[in-house]
Amino acid sequence: MADCIYCAQSAGFLNNKHKECEENYLSRKVVKDNIISIIKNALINNSISKDIYNETRILADSIQLFDSELTNLAILALDSAIEEMLKDKSLTEEEEKLIKDCCNFFDITNYKLMNQVNNTILIKNLQQGILPTNIECNHYFLLKKEEKLIYTLDKVKFSEPEITVSYKFTSFGFNTKNTEMDESSGKRIKTEEIKYKDTGLLAITNQNIYFDSKSKIFRIPFNNIVAVKPYNNGILIQRDEINSNHQIFEIPELDPIFLLNVISLAKGLE
Ligand SMILES: [Zn+2]
Repeated sequence: MADCIYCAQSAGFLNNKHKECEENYLSRKVVKDNIISIIKNALINNSISKDIYNETRILADSIQLFDSELTNLAILALDSAIEEMLKDKSLTEEEEKLIKDCCNFFDITNYKLMNQVNNTILIKNLQQGILPTNIECNHYFLLKKEEKLIYTLDKVKFSEPEITVSYKFTSFGFNTKNTEMDESSGKRIKTEEIKYKDTGLLAITNQNIYFDSKSKIFRIPFNNIVAVKPYNNGILIQRDEINSNHQIFEIPELDPIFLLNVISLAKGLE
């Protein structure tokens, strides 16, 4: 006896699905695929509109889809349309508008995709030397003359290595008389540990990277950076200074490669 893969109820001897459940699943899938292709075609053919929303809403109602399910189908359509649009390696203004309209019609707002779309548009613009003009954020650092904000990200966790020195003693290293440790006869051990420091705003301009938090505000000029590497959920920046620590910025829910691209494209743009 196994359970039905569609409804999870018992499907009877040697069966793993009910015939009706499968038919129901397949007919719903046809409608869902149809919704996706209507939205995708409208995006590619520059005809996304309220009518397209209404048409797909009626189809969605015919199989009792929730609003959120229709939104998810629109995200799939948008994803695949954007892939198509990016075949020529850039998004035209018209394509950007279509994407934004589609997000409005289908209520794609707080979704990862919207960020993904904005990030893709930012990279494409930077590749063509176009700086964003609409960045607004509250920060305490001062921009230099001719310096322009390119990208900001909130809730970034900043950490850096901290070196602690301890002493390992042989039996001769202890002064048994008063149990005080004797540094001169112990073996010096350096341990490096990554220590979390603070959470704040990471900002990238065309000249520097800034970190702005309650306890720390600092600037890393591009000229001082030797390497930027992906690190766990973020990036690691190695500075070009003797004895300088590397600095780690963790950014949940963001592709570190995207940030690397922004930094390398932002450098020196005017
Ligand atoms: Zn079933």
